[in-house]
Amino acid sequence: MSARLEAVLGDITGETVDAIVNAANPQLAAGAGVCGAIFAAAGHELVEACAALGGAPTGEALATPGFDLPARWIVHAVGPVWFGGDQGEPELLASAYRRSLDVAVEVGATSVAFPAISTGIYGYPLEPATRIAVATCRTAPPEIDLVRFVCFDAETHGAYERELTAT
Ligand code: ADP
Repeated sequence: MSARLEAVLGDITGETVDAIVNAANPQLAAGAGVCGAIFAAAGHELVEACAALGGAPTGEALATPGFDLPARWIVHAVGPVWFGGDQGEPELLASAYRRSLDVAVEVGATSVAFPAISTGIYGYPLEPATRIAVATCRTAPPEIDLVRFVCFDAETHGAYERELTAT
């Protein structure tokens, strides 16, 4: 059976799913945006866990525990910076989602919450990013029951609602 996909408006740090995904940077360092919020909520042990992992290339994902978060795991996915669209951005964004789902399965998660990876500071246009997110998660591995897209603003939520009901 394929995973149930849903979009909600909210703050991903409060999600009670098995794994939340972080829109990480390649250094796996605390930054701004959703990454900063996750580091602040998970506590100082996350800094040490990410330092031990050492970093990840764009399009990859790695897991740490959730520490002080309600979610058991954090999957740190490195999305692409938008350079206009001809630098492999679509493939790299799809890879960030696909690898996140694979890593979630590896740690035993069946429910996963995603932020809108790359659409904030990294500048990926919202509509094409949403299409890639939804299309990639529609073919989630069979172990995944639930994919929840946690949108931080109404515009993002609207884009996901449209994409989820479009096809
Ligand atoms: P990136 O660097 O990958 O673009 P950002 O964190 O700048 O990552 O933005 C990705 C998306 O996450 C944006 O839609 C932003 O509004 C959203 N966001 C920021 N904080 C949170 C949060 N606490 N929960 C969910 N989404 C968030």
